Amino acid sequence: MKPETAPPGLSYSSSNPESPWRVYLEQIDRVVPHLGELASQAETLRRCKRVLVVDVPIHMDDGTRVHFEGYRVQHNLSRGPGKGGIRYHPNVGLDEVMALSAWMTIKTAAVNLPFGGAKGGVRVDPKKLSFKELERLTRRFTSEINMIIGPDKDIPAPDVNTNEQIMAWMMDTYSMNVGHTATGVVTGKPLALGGSVGRHRATGQGVFFIAREAGQRLGIPIEGARVAIQGFGNVGGVAAELFAANRSRVVAVQDDSGTVYSDQGLDIAALSAAAKASGGVAAAGIGEKIGMEAFWDIPTDFLIPAAIEGQVTLERANRIKTRAVIEGANGPTSPEADDALAERGISVIPDVVANAGGVTVSYFEWVQDFSSFFWSEDQVNKRLERILVGAFSRIWDVAQQKRVSLRTAAYVVACERVLDQRRIRGLYP
Ligand code: NAD
Repeated sequence: MKPETAPPGLSYSSSNPESPWRVYLEQIDRVVPHLGELASQAETLRRCKRVLVVDVPIHMDDGTRVHFEGYRVQHNLSRGPGKGGIRYHPNVGLDEVMALSAWMTIKTAAVNLPFGGAKGGVRVDPKKLSFKELERLTRRFTSEINMIIGPDKDIPAPDVNTNEQIMAWMMDTYSMNVGHTATGVVTGKPLALGGSVGRHRATGQGVFFIAREAGQRLGIPIEGARVAIQGFGNVGGVAAELFAANRSRVVAVQDDSGTVYSDQGLDIAALSAAAKASGGVAAAGIGEKIGMEAFWDIPTDFLIPAAIEGQVTLERANRIKTRAVIEGANGPTSPEADDALAERGISVIPDVVANAGGVTVSYFEWVQDFSSFFWSEDQVNKRLERILVGAFSRIWDVAQQKRVSLRTAAYVVACERVLDQRRIRGLYP
């Protein structure tokens, strides 16, 4: 087959070095030479299938009307309905949502879930909204994207600053709009509304399973391992708890309020309780407070960025003293930093497998909603472990065979699955 030709599109050729979409495109450039015949169809991975930008006007409690900007991007739907979270953050923008949706395409395919990739968000600081304003924002945003989401079309989930209450409002709004209760339209819902046991902890749980698997191959036992974690929310908080429970030493934790350190290992249960009460780790009074930048100089066995993207920059990669970076966050490492870490012999376990626990249990939730038959926590955790361990093992083997990084290997596995499905389906019309 002749290679596809592609006139450059403005939104597809970001020149901003900080652009997450640029990072994604560079990752695709790196994988294409390893795709054999399927490389001729790789242009489809450099495009988003569908991009929706919506105006979200709401009444504030004081009677004023404020407009927010919202997004839902479906990067690729070849393998099934779109899947990906909804992010509320003041820096959310189209470029970021496009990249996050593309990473969901890669992630669902790397773990072999029957989904495509999607993502959404609203440019808002939710901490500045009242509970009622947050509900109005969520309901209006859901109505605006209603026509492209649905249990068979695209299934949102929580991401940064969104939670199961927001999923409940989304499910209710979608259900009101279509005229019947449709629990399967979102995952990460409360248990009472068709949520799955184990979903809340699934991503952190998956980070831990993957660190354990990587550690076994790299000769880093979990017991006694020194661990630093950036982000103490849904992902980082649960991962920290599991490392501590398995006798690792969690020597540093950073959130947006500050960084705390203890060479002997922090008391994670106490830190978690105190951070919840005081609004962050900085005011928790546990461990020694150190500067934000000093976090990256701490010697560790596992370094876990589990906050936001773009944190492992080239400059930080040259200073980091760890044996393995386990990417709990999406897109935390720049391509230049990836190279620098590889040159220094530091393994990077990529986000698309390391944090795939959440989407895997979201898949379980969606399956349970369709069948209205709910599983036990033990069933959820065993199936999660089996899927993640299998996916990691496949990616590890491809990395060894092709002598490429684990990220490139994960992309090879995922892109082959997406492009092969595309090839078999053919091009409409
Ligand atoms: P969260 O909102 O629960 O927690 C985010 C944490 O990061 C908080 O502790 C916050 O204080 C911290 N943080 C934010 N900005 C920071 C900064 N500049 N410096 C240091 N710390 C900062 O979010 P989450 O659900 O834990 O998600 C974290 C990351 O994991 C995101 O990249 C998200 O896309 C990714 N992820 C989440 C899930 C999930 O199931 N929640 C699944 C896959 C990937």
